[in-house]
Amino acid sequence: MERYDIAVIGAGPAGVSAAITATIRNKSVVLIGSPKISDKVRKAHRIDNYPGLPAATGEQFADALKAHLDSLNIGITEKRVSAVYAMGSFFSLQADEDMIEANAVILATGVTAGKPLPGEDKFLGRGVSYCATCDARLYAGRPVAVIGYNAESVKEAEFLSEIVSEVEYFPMTGSAPEERGNLKVIREIPRGITGGLKASAVATDAGEHPCDCVFVLRDAVAPDKLVPGLKTEGAHVVVDISMKTNLPGLFACGDIAGKPYQYIKAAGQGNIAALSAVEYLDNNKKG
Ligand SMILES: Cc1cc2nc3c(=O)[nH]c(=O)nc-3n(C[C@H](O)[C@H](O)[C@H](O)COP(=O)(O)OP(=O)(O)OC[C@H]3O[C@@H](n4cnc5c(N)ncnc54)[C@H](O)[C@@H]3O)c2cc1C
Repeated sequence: MERYDIAVIGAGPAGVSAAITATIRNKSVVLIGSPKISDKVRKAHRIDNYPGLPAATGEQFADALKAHLDSLNIGITEKRVSAVYAMGSFFSLQADEDMIEANAVILATGVTAGKPLPGEDKFLGRGVSYCATCDARLYAGRPVAVIGYNAESVKEAEFLSEIVSEVEYFPMTGSAPEERGNLKVIREIPRGITGGLKASAVATDAGEHPCDCVFVLRDAVAPDKLVPGLKTEGAHVVVDISMKTNLPGLFACGDIAGKPYQYIKAAGQGNIAALSAVEYLDNNKKG
């Protein structure tokens, strides 16, 4: 398996900036995220505070970021990372059904909105999953629930319905799949995940919806769930001024590294994180 110098997780302004700087500094980079860049970029009506792009729309800014990547032949690996494991001298990333290895990692996944549902933390790995592609087969022929926060979760629910016996989809935004066969849309607000040793139901005001697994599909997984042992404060990763986290070789930038939530701050921190990762790799080579 190829081991990259640097894996950048998330292709918003922070991740794009980190990937550009790391590539210019001659490191092998895998940028994992969406080719659409970031919903938080595309959905902006008008951007007035990004130097050099006055009054750009979000679409224009996202296209400019993508064009910059293309100009440097930096591809975007279209996958979701569901776990990052520190292996000592390198990191192993679970990206959908694949494992990706890198000597340093830059987290640029944006900030997670909202608190976990009651029961979500308790049952994570025991009937609560953040990755349909990774865990669908574990629940083949059994009923599952999907609590979906974005358009991608609709696709994930459709994929799950090909493998499991029944999918109950709880839409948390405007997007919902078309009901068909074993795929049902439940328009009730999930209040929590209940169970005994394992999760066994989604609880709503209307009652309990039994299932063997609850897939909670948000835009971003909380950073301490993504990386075991990572020091966080609320929704943010704790970083120093060089974007270093408490884990050697792991850096964080952009919204995930704290407020203010701004494009220019995200891009600037992406640049710093990449330079710090390069320094880390070069020092390790010397040592
Ligand atoms: C409607 C709107 C308008 C805004 N307008 C402005 C503005 O005018 N000016 C301004 O300065 N700021 C604005 N902002 C704030 C700005 O959008 C954010 O500060 C900025 O996008 C943060 O960049 P980021 O790269 O840190 O994260 P994001 O842009 O959130 O990008 C993170 C990316 O990582 C991906 N990702 C997350 N988890 C994973 C994973 N596990 N695996 C793979 N990929 C993953 C996400 O899908 C996303 O594409 C606006 C925000 C919104 C919502």
